[in-house]
Amino acid sequence: MAAGGRASPKILPDGSFMSSIQNKLFIGGRFVDAMDGATIDVLNPHDNSLITRVAEAKAADVDAAVDAAARAFPLWSGLPAAERGKLLLKLADRIEAEADALARLEAIDTGHPIRDARNIDVMRTAACYRYFGGMADKFQGSLVPVEAGFLNYVSRVPVGVVGQIVPWNFPLMFTSWKLGPALAAGNTVVMKPSEITPLSTLRIAEMMAEIGFPEGVVNIVVGYGATAGQHLAEHPAVGKISFTGSTGIGRRIVQASQGNLKRVQLELGGKGANIVFDDANLAAAVNGSAWAIFHNQGQACIAGSRLIIHEKIADEFLERFVALATSIRLGNPLDPETEMGPLTSTVHRDRVLSYVDIARQQGGEVLAGGRAPTQPELAQGCYVEPTIVRAKPTDRVSQEEVFGPFVTVTTFGDDADALRIANSTEYGLGSGLWTRDLSRAHKVARDIRAGMVWINSYKRVNPGSPFGGVGQSGYGREMGFEAMHDYTEAKSVWVNVDAQIPPHFRR
Ligand code: NAD
Repeated sequence: MAAGGRASPKILPDGSFMSSIQNKLFIGGRFVDAMDGATIDVLNPHDNSLITRVAEAKAADVDAAVDAAARAFPLWSGLPAAERGKLLLKLADRIEAEADALARLEAIDTGHPIRDARNIDVMRTAACYRYFGGMADKFQGSLVPVEAGFLNYVSRVPVGVVGQIVPWNFPLMFTSWKLGPALAAGNTVVMKPSEITPLSTLRIAEMMAEIGFPEGVVNIVVGYGATAGQHLAEHPAVGKISFTGSTGIGRRIVQASQGNLKRVQLELGGKGANIVFDDANLAAAVNGSAWAIFHNQGQACIAGSRLIIHEKIADEFLERFVALATSIRLGNPLDPETEMGPLTSTVHRDRVLSYVDIARQQGGEVLAGGRAPTQPELAQGCYVEPTIVRAKPTDRVSQEEVFGPFVTVTTFGDDADALRIANSTEYGLGSGLWTRDLSRAHKVARDIRAGMVWINSYKRVNPGSPFGGVGQSGYGREMGFEAMHDYTEAKSVWVNVDAQIPPHFRR
């Protein structure tokens, strides 16, 4: 046993654990020790055992990573775009080829059930790298029809060194959302994964080195937010920060970026409204609404965490919804039967559970869950039962992001009422609605304040479709052409085609 009574570092069941990268940062194409030798324990949320220790980057390590990225920039940005794309396509193939091992790594590090890690996280990650691999040589500038005798073209040039800061909830996928467009556009990257779930990102870096990405193009500095993250956000040689995380830290990122007026893109918190109208296909709405909140234990910025149900169907909907929620199989993420795993850390589990008391204090009624499960095999882990709470739209649990398997339920009388409730938080990220009425669907989609709306589904994402929010959910977009715009600057070039002499000061 290691210090603190925890078990020794574990190797994955198939022995595929990342031999060369334990305890290392990835800087300049090599796995290196942190300068001061500091490490971070990485725990398995299923039982809080120690998986491994990784190196902890501090300011000096971040500086080294930024230097490496700056040195790599001329070569990488100067490569034919198709060559950059080819490497991203190879990475996509490699991820698919090693899908099982990557999924297991993600499952033990984050608590994602292995079936989701394998079929969703890994597959979406490969799809994202493939999309941007294909995008690299198709994203192009434009020609502006200006006055006669002149040619004006606009090329899209990479920003330079970009800093990317990632949260703990979907590390594999979010890494691809950020690296894919940044690299396709010709930027070089310093990425700071979450200190809680850094393992799959380190494994991706190892794959990149094996595939032949030039050294320094991607650098990984695992570290704490207040030290490594803050330093990266402040760094004068970093041209853009792409941040995914909480709204509070997003504000700090904006402040930290001011020194050199960095471009900033923020993917922040959410409080997804999920409206069920009285003409909805109830079976689909119940099932989809459960997915909206309980997938990944509700630890998703786009989670449908506020159910807003028409009063006519509320009783029937809730009867079915509670029955489904209480039948969800909680368990070890590595068990293929598991439908919901643990939350990512003990601290976070306790925070989520604290919202049950907060709900009750304001008159909320717990309809399901509201506690840690009692099975002995789950007792050491960070589990929370699927929790459904009837609450008023103004209650704290209806306004604050709980970020767990915790959904509030409220009812409405007419469409205007539904929209008013849906738009009553400071966030504006994901949202959903269930109806068979086509014009109602489009009208509500138009009027709901959100970056994404799902009609008769929830939580669909695709690398071609822009992802991001409004209000306190941030600004800028990931994925699609929007992301390519966000990772490039427009350069406008004027050519005096007819060699006209300017009319001013003619003598
Ligand atoms: P967090 O804000 O605590 O941390 C996110 C990242 O920022 C981590 O890597 C952390 O180390 C780093 N960080 C912390 N303090 C920092 C600082 N002062 N300077 C620079 N970096 C710092 O968020 P979290 O708890 O890891 O993730 C959960 C949050 O992320 C939720 O609010 C969730 O809604 C949000 N999120 C948003 C999206 C989206 O796309 N909008 C997606 C996933 C998660």
